[in-house]
Amino acid sequence: MTLIDQLRSSVAGPVLGPDDADFSTEVAAWNTATVHTPEVAVGLTSEEDAAALVRVAAAAGTPVRVLASGHGSAVPVTDGILATTSRLTGVTIDPATRIAHINAGSRWAEVIEAAAEHGLAPVAGASDNVGCIGYTLGGGLGPLSRTYGFSSDWARGFRVVTASGEVVTASATENPDLFWALRGGKGGFGIVTSLDFELVELSTLYGGSVFFDAPQIADALATWVDWTHTLPETATSSVAILRLPPLEFIPEPLRGKTVLSARFAFVGDPAEGERLFQPIRDVGPTIIDAVAEMPAAAIATIHNDPRDPGPGWDRGGLLTDLDAGFVEAFLSAAGPDQQVPFIAIELRHLGGATQRDVPEGSAVGGRSGAYTYFMAGVPDPSLFETVLPPAADALLTPLQPWVSSETTINYAGGLKVPGSYEASWPKETFARLAEVRATYDPNTLFPYGPA
Ligand SMILES: Cc1cc2nc3c(=O)[nH]c(=O)nc-3n(C[C@H](O)[C@H](O)[C@H](O)COP(=O)(O)OP(=O)(O)OC[C@H]3O[C@@H](n4cnc5c(N)ncnc54)[C@H](O)[C@@H]3O)c2cc1C
Repeated sequence: MTLIDQLRSSVAGPVLGPDDADFSTEVAAWNTATVHTPEVAVGLTSEEDAAALVRVAAAAGTPVRVLASGHGSAVPVTDGILATTSRLTGVTIDPATRIAHINAGSRWAEVIEAAAEHGLAPVAGASDNVGCIGYTLGGGLGPLSRTYGFSSDWARGFRVVTASGEVVTASATENPDLFWALRGGKGGFGIVTSLDFELVELSTLYGGSVFFDAPQIADALATWVDWTHTLPETATSSVAILRLPPLEFIPEPLRGKTVLSARFAFVGDPAEGERLFQPIRDVGPTIIDAVAEMPAAAIATIHNDPRDPGPGWDRGGLLTDLDAGFVEAFLSAAGPDQQVPFIAIELRHLGGATQRDVPEGSAVGGRSGAYTYFMAGVPDPSLFETVLPPAADALLTPLQPWVSSETTINYAGGLKVPGSYEASWPKETFARLAEVRATYDPNTLFPYGPA
């Protein structure tokens, strides 16, 4: 029997080869510049499907990879089986324990909506359209990170189909070594079928974003860097220089402009949030001021990340503490007067809870970072291999005194940058992750990392 026939007789969901009509839709990623061409695509409809798929793959020695939303699809899958989780949605909430049971295909928007009914919220990322599992496996930094830490700190248990085809629970009490690895170690451990995730009590925030026009950018950035040194850990913020195209979907006052967006999220008394944010307002006139008391369920409006699929190229990492020298170097490299092929260049303030590990320890990399940097390229795939990598190198060269040697995997630019995979965890963590992979996947059924 061929691999496809074996899978079709073992799995309830669709099993598709490259010649099947729905194949390209099944393997389509949110990042449309990445086109996956596996040997077979399998649409999972249950945990049993995942277990059956793994048993067939293990017997055939065929590698297995997982596609959820495809937000992290930077490198195409060109062999083996691609298991897709989009049919495995569904979130249930236990308000008494504040635990959300999240199935593998769910995106943050689904959890945010279900949690809000109970006055609860997940510690999620900037975009509510990203998949919960892929994001949390990489740690996850969001608009509330300084207050609540990495999202993986809130993971309480995973259900995982390991290479043996067994379904196991990984939690503080069951398979704790696998639990440690899944909280930030990202890939190469198995197919996660669900996640138990602790929610926080949060119905409102003081937050949002303000936009400064090009003449205010230098002042706004310098003020932001100084101001971040004064903030309590109940406040998280970021800035981004956005070079916005003159297109209809961009709100009129921002269309075609180079602007600085300053984002803020404060957990606590809104009057205190307003007082804390005042130094940013004092920089001068804003094009838009949308910082106010807001429902926690509207958290994705703070960053307003694009939701629709499209071609994407990004690179990011971590920075050490910032100072006036950084502001000068950054403005010379990326300020509004420079021609750079990046639609967004973002800095996020870390610290507070991001720098404290959970009591039982976890694999996530990046606790030493004080800020993140992130560059999103002009979304033209003809630039992705040619123009954007050297432009990113050129932009980063003068910033090297502040670039941290450690990064975190969700920011590592899709493993395209040599060395970024290894730099995504402290050395001892990287070595321990390899040991856990060798225990749970001795024959590398779930390849992960640069090829
Ligand atoms: C617009 C945008 C905004 C973002 N914002 C943030 C942010 O604020 N903070 C942050 O930390 N990151 C952010 N990211 C990065 C994002 O967290 C990663 O790209 C993450 O990998 C996306 O996960 P996914 O499941 O949605 O994507 P996918 O590309 O489908 O999955 C990525 C990887 O996750 C693993 N994976 C997914 N599901 C499973 C599963 N069920 N079992 C085993 N492995 C699995 C696989 O290794 C897979 O290759 C953002 C990315 C984009 C494009």
